[in-house]
Amino acid sequence: MNGMEYEVNCIGCGTSYIAHSSRDGYCPECKAKRAAQTRHRYYEKRKHEQKEAKRGLVDCVICGKLFNAVLSDQKRCPTCQLVHERDIKRANTIDYRRERYDCIQVKVPKGERELIKQIASDNGDTLQSLYTKGQKLYKALYALDQSDRDMILDILGVSL
Ligand SMILES: [Zn+2]
Ligand SMILES: [Zn+2]
Repeated sequence: MNGMEYEVNCIGCGTSYIAHSSRDGYCPECKAKRAAQTRHRYYEKRKHEQKEAKRGLVDCVICGKLFNAVLSDQKRCPTCQLVHERDIKRANTIDYRRERYDCIQVKVPKGERELIKQIASDNGDTLQSLYTKGQKLYKALYALDQSDRDMILDILGVSL
């Protein structure tokens, strides 16, 4: 019976399609979808297992106390976690920031702001951390002798 073709109905979506068996099965589209779902489920299961494996007794990164991690990648013990969350909440209040930080405005050519943000985020930086890194590099660069500085700028292909 090789080479025979049958018109059968897809058990998934109900549309008829041509198959090499008279039994109803999945149409190519549903087959592909199901395969993708299986791959996704497998991936999720692996991820879950890897997370589970990381649970258990962990040293708190803040106080060093051994604690039972109920979540994967839990780095702080419950006590330090609470303090940490409170600190984050506080750090996000306008008053807190106003108290501790000054604001600098920098002018960039029209349209460049998004570009700079993009460059920063491509490297996992915020504008804030980009500024901090840039400032450190600047300081380090200008702490060098002129000749060393020129050499490094030459290697980087940057002129200041
Ligand atoms: Zn189908
Ligand atoms: Zn702790």
